[in-house]
Amino acid sequence: MKVIVIGAGVIGVTSALALRREGHDVTILDREGVAAGASQGNAGAFAFPGVIPVATPGIVLKAPKWLLDPLGPLSIPPRYALKLAPWLVRFWRASWRDRFEPTVAAHGSLMAHSSRALEALVQRYGLESHLHREGQIDVYDSERTYRESLPFWDLAASHGVEHERLEGRNALLDRQAGLAAHFEYGVFTPSWLNVYDPKIWVQTLADLFVQQGGKIEIASVEALRTDQDEAVVQANGTEHRCDRVVLAAGAFSHRLAKTLGDHIPLETERGYNTTLPQGAFDLTTFLTFADHGFVVGRSGPGIRVGGAVELGGLELPANMKRADALLQKAKKFLPDLDTSGGRQWMGFRPSTPDCKPVISISPSSPSVIYAFGHGHLGLTQSVGTSELVADLVLGRTPSIDLAPFAADRFSKIF
Ligand SMILES: Cc1cc2nc3c(=O)[nH]c(=O)nc-3n(C[C@H](O)[C@H](O)[C@H](O)COP(=O)(O)OP(=O)(O)OC[C@H]3O[C@@H](n4cnc5c(N)ncnc54)[C@H](O)[C@@H]3O)c2cc1C
Repeated sequence: MKVIVIGAGVIGVTSALALRREGHDVTILDREGVAAGASQGNAGAFAFPGVIPVATPGIVLKAPKWLLDPLGPLSIPPRYALKLAPWLVRFWRASWRDRFEPTVAAHGSLMAHSSRALEALVQRYGLESHLHREGQIDVYDSERTYRESLPFWDLAASHGVEHERLEGRNALLDRQAGLAAHFEYGVFTPSWLNVYDPKIWVQTLADLFVQQGGKIEIASVEALRTDQDEAVVQANGTEHRCDRVVLAAGAFSHRLAKTLGDHIPLETERGYNTTLPQGAFDLTTFLTFADHGFVVGRSGPGIRVGGAVELGGLELPANMKRADALLQKAKKFLPDLDTSGGRQWMGFRPSTPDCKPVISISPSSPSVIYAFGHGHLGLTQSVGTSELVADLVLGRTPSIDLAPFAADRFSKIF
């Protein structure tokens, strides 16, 4: 079968590799090259314990406080607020308990599938040296916020998330030395993994794909259509015909889905970080500062500090003051952190309002498969997604229920 994959981010490359492994004629088209988008500079976490979505019950009560701080964990540039409103309404609806709990179950199933698929991939291609298996701690500011999180941990545990509660400063310091004096509570998740460097990870998979006969071409895709049984991809003014298209263009995917007639409410949660050189801090596990929406993890030989969410669309310029603010906060929380010599970055998380990816055949065309919208979890869910994409391309029954990830689920808001 001839397949074109649009997008050489982690989702497109892993999907292309899975399809090529099954013997198909696969070409990736990307307008810039391998790992040019969000997959390049993310925090590098295979965050398998992260089954609780951002849209949690009560989030709308917390959000106004966060929004008051212009450089806080959540921001909405006033110029973008009106455009964002319909997405926000859907996000708020997704946080109601009747939708939140099925979302947790859907993530539980996709995470378990993705974790198994990653381990098989690592074994198949000998990739263990790319991984840190050091777990992660959610660190809480106070006993109050720690206790408020516990029902969510209980819910995560009911979906197989193993975790250890760290109560008291010594329990926390046994896992990570150097935390500021006020930290006394945390939750450790041993099944959390990290890649050495997310860009190197995707490039390694892309190299494997090419070694196995896959092709990668630089081309900017403008539109999709179908012509009887064939899919037609228009890129740089040229038409490419194939049997199946996989659309994995990250935060830009909805624009191409629209050319087919599908309207997917995809926005971007822009995230910022700073990568510090080797020796910046002695990190023994990945840290999530749960009350502040940012993380500190190893990246390459250095340390990457960042996160936060800016709902600012794809066109507004980056505001690197956000990366500065996160770094200053990290210095308060890890007093020994050397904040000098950092490199700043902003990336576009591709985000649906219900915090679930779209892994689905297009409602408008059986030849087009959608694989985008993974939000905060694109690296984490990439290998599982690639196997599901291969199932959809080949017409097999997917190994997990894909109804929660269907492209037509957005037709009903309430
Ligand atoms: C600060 C930050 C930290 C994060 N940390 C983590 C983490 O620790 N763990 C995790 O799991 N996730 C994390 N994420 C999320 C993760 O990075 C994304 O979910 C993931 O990279 C999305 O991958 P993708 O392949 O869908 O998109 P992308 O990596 O953005 O790739 C899309 C590709 O499509 C191409 N493209 C777009 N439009 C076109 C077109 N018209 N024609 C041709 N090519 C096109 C682009 O050039 C790009 O290469 C983080 C994100 C950010 C911003």
